[in-house]
Amino acid sequence: MKGEPRRESGGRRPTRRARLGCVYLVGAGPGDPGLLTVRALDLLREADVVAHDELVSARVLDLARPGAEVVCVGHRCGAARPDHGIHPGVLAHARAGRRVVRLKGGDPFVFGRGGEEAEALAEAGIPFEVVPGVSAALGAAAYAGIPLTDRRFASGVTWLTGQEAGSRASPREGAALPAGETLVIFMASRNLSANLDRLVAGGRPPGTPAAYVASATLPDQRVVVGTLADLAARVGSPLSRSPAIVIVGEVVSLRERISWFERRPLSGRRLLVARARPGPSAVAGALRRLGADVFESPRIAVEPPTDPAPLDEALRALGRFAGTVFACATGVDAVLARLGSLDLDSTRVLPRPILAVGRGAARALRRHGIVPDSESEGACPRGLADLHGTALGARLLLVAPEDGRLGLVADLERRGASLTPVAAYRRRFRPASHPPASQLDALVLPSSTAARAILSGPKGRELAGVPAVAMGPRTEKEARRLGASRVVRTAEDTIPSLIGSVVAVLAGGPAPPRRPRDARRLRSETEAVRG
Ligand code: SAH
Repeated sequence: MKGEPRRESGGRRPTRRARLGCVYLVGAGPGDPGLLTVRALDLLREADVVAHDELVSARVLDLARPGAEVVCVGHRCGAARPDHGIHPGVLAHARAGRRVVRLKGGDPFVFGRGGEEAEALAEAGIPFEVVPGVSAALGAAAYAGIPLTDRRFASGVTWLTGQEAGSRASPREGAALPAGETLVIFMASRNLSANLDRLVAGGRPPGTPAAYVASATLPDQRVVVGTLADLAARVGSPLSRSPAIVIVGEVVSLRERISWFERRPLSGRRLLVARARPGPSAVAGALRRLGADVFESPRIAVEPPTDPAPLDEALRALGRFAGTVFACATGVDAVLARLGSLDLDSTRVLPRPILAVGRGAARALRRHGIVPDSESEGACPRGLADLHGTALGARLLLVAPEDGRLGLVADLERRGASLTPVAAYRRRFRPASHPPASQLDALVLPSSTAARAILSGPKGRELAGVPAVAMGPRTEKEARRLGASRVVRTAEDTIPSLIGSVVAVLAGGPAPPRRPRDARRLRSETEAVRG
């Protein structure tokens, strides 16, 4: 693939000389983007077209190359079940020479008609590859804490569909299933009660443990545990659109001891992280690892400064400065790109000492082959004290966004520095979608700019009533100024302190009711079962 010319998604006109594209039948896993294979991620980042089933999670689709055409071709997206082997649009894109990722939930060759799609591609003479994925059966088992086999309880496992269970007197003729085997039932929601009854009719004891796992591996995963006799009643009316799997067998009893997903400190908590920087957020990542369902807003686009002249002037006369301060990775990238286009050698011309405020800036410098002389954990006063003390009196160039870092300038000048801020880029803020304030457990404010971006945005008023955790006094002050009424300030102005404060504020106490009624019932029943 590396050798192939890169196509713009706009360059769609098939030409007579156009080569055939390739279709990649890719398993997207059960939902958690962390369960994608490295191969799947590479392909998503290079795809011209991503043709996906409805069940593929939005978080996985977010990883597609910006500019790729993302289209839902699963039968749930359209009308009835398709009678074609593969969606005609997929064939058309491939014939026009595009690189198509046909993204399927779980693994493409497990109850996903992936085999039929591959057959249709083979028949059409279109090159294709198959990339396996983590099947929902494995995702549900791992994230619910239910080993599918265990030498004490089950030496084998059978995967089957609910439909199959319903259309037979009992799944796989019931009695034919080895007694000690675990069953994994896909497409389990419909006719749940009838299907479980049939298993009993087929010879399984009614007291056999069974678990219903909905939205496995996603932040809203729900597990209901019961027996073949009572699981359907415990589940009640299943969540309308959440996919679910049922696991049947003695192995289900192990969950009591080894469930982990729900035990993480922020499981079941829904957070909105305010953003002021582009790219992935370290704060959001850390909160997700602790189990929270994290939304981020606004989205930030980076553009050249409105007036590029001051940056160019500063870069052409770098000799005037006795050091350079970078306070973000975006500033590093912007300055280095500009130096490149001015034909200046970035590793030599930047005045030293080079100071990195925050680990992001330091990492970005290293990525460009520049080792900072000094770096701080963040922009808090204690962090700034780590910076090269001797340089602070001198005339330093501060690389900043067009409208920011005034607080940092003031703090550094208070420490005796003399700074010339220069705008290296401009940020554009666009609100991103997130749940309404009533469904959020907390608003996380990593900086005063981020606080301003979210609280002065279109939903600001509504969000001002959500409990907020603000990093440092300046952020707290800004949040309060903009109407936030329930603000907790972190002990220190650092990311670990911010994460610690969020956990302290939220962990332990009961999550406020905020889910639809049927989901709440599932949850309380799950808890009742867990005792
Ligand atoms: N190829 C897929 C299965 C496709 S059939 C795989 O290997 O997982 C679709 C069924 O998969 C759904 O009805 C449901 O039973 C199951 N499923 C998919 N994603 C799921 C999830 N996140 N949680 C629980 N079940 C899921």
